[in-house]
Amino acid sequence: KMNKELQDLKGNIRVYCRIRPFLPGQKAKQSIVEYVGDNGELTVVNPSKQGKEVRRSFKFNQVYGSKATQVDVYSEIRPLIQSVLDGYNVCIFAYGQTGSGKTYTMSGPDGASEEEWGVNYRAMNDLFNISQRRGRTCAYEIGVQMVEIYNEQVRDLLASLSNFYLIMYQAYGFLNLHTLGVSSNSQASGLAVPDASMHPVQSSSDVMEFMEIGLKNRAKSSTAMNERSSRSHRFFLQISSFSPTFFYAFMFLISLHICSVLTVHARGTDLKTGSLLRGNLHLVDLAGSERIDRSEVTGDRLKEAQHINKSLAALGDVIFALAQKSAHVPYRNSKLTQVLQSSLGTYLSSIPDLLICYFESFQ
Ligand code: ADP
Ligand code: MG
Repeated sequence: KMNKELQDLKGNIRVYCRIRPFLPGQKAKQSIVEYVGDNGELTVVNPSKQGKEVRRSFKFNQVYGSKATQVDVYSEIRPLIQSVLDGYNVCIFAYGQTGSGKTYTMSGPDGASEEEWGVNYRAMNDLFNISQRRGRTCAYEIGVQMVEIYNEQVRDLLASLSNFYLIMYQAYGFLNLHTLGVSSNSQASGLAVPDASMHPVQSSSDVMEFMEIGLKNRAKSSTAMNERSSRSHRFFLQISSFSPTFFYAFMFLISLHICSVLTVHARGTDLKTGSLLRGNLHLVDLAGSERIDRSEVTGDRLKEAQHINKSLAALGDVIFALAQKSAHVPYRNSKLTQVLQSSLGTYLSSIPDLLICYFESFQ
């Protein structure tokens, strides 16, 4: 009994643009947003060196100006959350340069007030509210997985919670991240990473707890990886011994090279007919899309940059192939597209041209 509007949303990719406000002390140097139209139009002015201005225009489904709130942004996403409980797969990506507001939009700032809650939190609240409201007609089981993709390896960010690792984790912050295989035949469970631990959840606060632990593990694993590079390791010791603020800033910096995927798996049983519905919601905070000047980075940093570019390009290629309805969709070119394969495939129908132009313009 979905309304027309909701049906229109299904089987579709939509691209929204959100403009981050200038941060305190930040000055406009390179690009200035000149015009934001009601219909998703956006014009950006780049003053060139010769004093000539270069204007570029874009068209999105909608553009959110710098005054848009978290509530405004979430209002477009809300109907999709209901779709998950109807048995559809939904992916929500945050794509953009480091510092552009991906994590702010998806998770909210650190220690967010209710007003500042990001998409993840709001989506979870709605998911549980709707599933409870449907309680008489449908029984839902909801579980979460959280993985990270780093240098083409998929790791379970919640693995340390299984059995005795939970105790170890609480006592010592022990980390057990093992590399997982990605299944090409994910149709049965709808899960592309069957080995990743799945944790049953009863409420949005259960999910928040898992997310917090996952994010902590993510920060830790990136520190551990970074320690392998001796140069960065020294840097790490230097600043951390002086200033806790810098230490934080550094942790923040290194965790940027990782893409994290929170998967919420909803399985509903219709209480009358006994039929089963399965839906997955993937919430993806992609790695920063900036180009890294290859002459300046070496070793681990170069490897990271290459892997990020590869997986973002692979995502673009997959979406391009889906949009063209081509017979071969190159999912296997990156772990990111493999993990999201079953969900991305859902969008085969009616993809607007818009998305393609987005990928071409920003890569
Ligand atoms: P990314 O994850 O893309 O690297 P962040 O989400 O960490 O970027 O944002 C960078 C900084 O900008 C953070 O300090 C964040 O709190 C702030 N920020 C991002 N978007 C907004 C916004 N819409 N309003 C206010 N502050 C924002
Ligand atoms: Mg981020």
